[in-house]
Amino acid sequence: MSDTHQPHDVQRFIEVEVASEPAGPVEQPEQGERAGMSRRSMLKAGALAAATLTAGQARAQEDAPAVATGSVAGMPFRALVRSGTTSSVEDLRLREIKPRQVLVRTTASCGCYTITRNVLGDRNFDAPTIPNHSGFGVVEAVGAEVRRVRTGDRVLVCGTPECGVCYQCLHGNPEACNYLNSQLFNEPIADMADGTAVIQQGAIGGLSEIIVAMEEYCIPLFTDLPDGELSLLGDTLAAGLSATLTYGRVEPGSDVVVFGAGPIGLAAVQGARSQSAGQIIVIEPVAYRREKALELGATTVLDPNVDTDTLVERVREMCYGPTDRLDAGGRYGPGYRYGGADFVIEASGGDLFPPAVETGPDTTGLLALRQSWDVTRGGGHLTLLAAGQQGDISFPTARFCLSTRSIHGGQMGGMHPMRDAPRYVTMIERGAIDAAAVITATYPLDGVVDGFQRVADRTELGVVFVFG
Ligand SMILES: [Zn+2]
Ligand SMILES: [Zn+2]
Repeated sequence: MSDTHQPHDVQRFIEVEVASEPAGPVEQPEQGERAGMSRRSMLKAGALAAATLTAGQARAQEDAPAVATGSVAGMPFRALVRSGTTSSVEDLRLREIKPRQVLVRTTASCGCYTITRNVLGDRNFDAPTIPNHSGFGVVEAVGAEVRRVRTGDRVLVCGTPECGVCYQCLHGNPEACNYLNSQLFNEPIADMADGTAVIQQGAIGGLSEIIVAMEEYCIPLFTDLPDGELSLLGDTLAAGLSATLTYGRVEPGSDVVVFGAGPIGLAAVQGARSQSAGQIIVIEPVAYRREKALELGATTVLDPNVDTDTLVERVREMCYGPTDRLDAGGRYGPGYRYGGADFVIEASGGDLFPPAVETGPDTTGLLALRQSWDVTRGGGHLTLLAAGQQGDISFPTARFCLSTRSIHGGQMGGMHPMRDAPRYVTMIERGAIDAAAVITATYPLDGVVDGFQRVADRTELGVVFVFG
């Protein structure tokens, strides 16, 4: 090769390189081959972008028969399938898994409020789909290229993947791992009796006796904790803990405010308690959930229906500290717009369905979202967890720009699944976190619709679906 490559030469080189090793390490070209192919010339030719797309497509399309433990095609299993607006348990036949997929025999799956729309509501999928976005079980088969888990492992199929090698993971943001784009590989995993293909929500599903997941979503957990408790680490419990232990890590003695005492908010309460927070102030309209928050570590619970208009100032007052002497570590008093808590977690969301218990002053969730920002002190941390708010929200420009509040969002509160799930297991084992305390009901596969109705009604806290 010379120094005067034409663009079509570059393109051909990339395609050959990608096609020869679609999923494994790419062979290094000979020195003479690489010579003269500068990154600048490749960029100029637009070839790098083309290579990226080609690699992703190649990964999604790979279908070499390579199951380490023998063929699984045709294996019968049952799952909840959502077709149109109908949710029903169906008999399915498994398709062959791919070289980097893991076949999990599900033992438990977390009932998540977000999923109520997909099981009970009017949110349809494009194709018949197994709902949910997490699960727990035992690895029954692995594709030939899977390294992270082995058959027989107890494995969490987490709502967030962590590949460890994509751009986001390498830059410290696995909660935004590029494998989260499940459209790349969410192909049918099974067929119904009439031949209709079935996919999994988010390439995970969960309300099924079988989950087929890319290994990037699979976290092996080496513990003897119960399946139901561990299933919460793929969703609600892990999200609340991560909100207090990752980007907005609670500091000892700090003031923490948690909006919402559902399964996620209660996990945030426990996470804050585990860090020896000072005050843990919980804002929750449902009486039995306020009681639960007190049991799990809240120091104060407030009903947002009481003094709704003065809630923000009331919380700020609670966070003034023991002195108003500014030269002695004190803070400004009433009316100071940058006063508030050190760490705030918004986990209330909006009502997707009319609850059968008390409801807050604003069913859209936007009021709580705005209040959560208002009660975060200047320089404090606000972590946003709920995804159920409906509508847009605005902020005063100057304060939005100048108050130095750090806002953290992100999948599952910023969880780094491979790092965090094992340490959450240890925290549960040591008694720092009580996972069992938030599980108030379990349902079998045939009771999934009933279970989700209780989740939608908010009459239960943590609902777990158990299989086998
Ligand atoms: Zn969820
Ligand atoms: Zn990644």
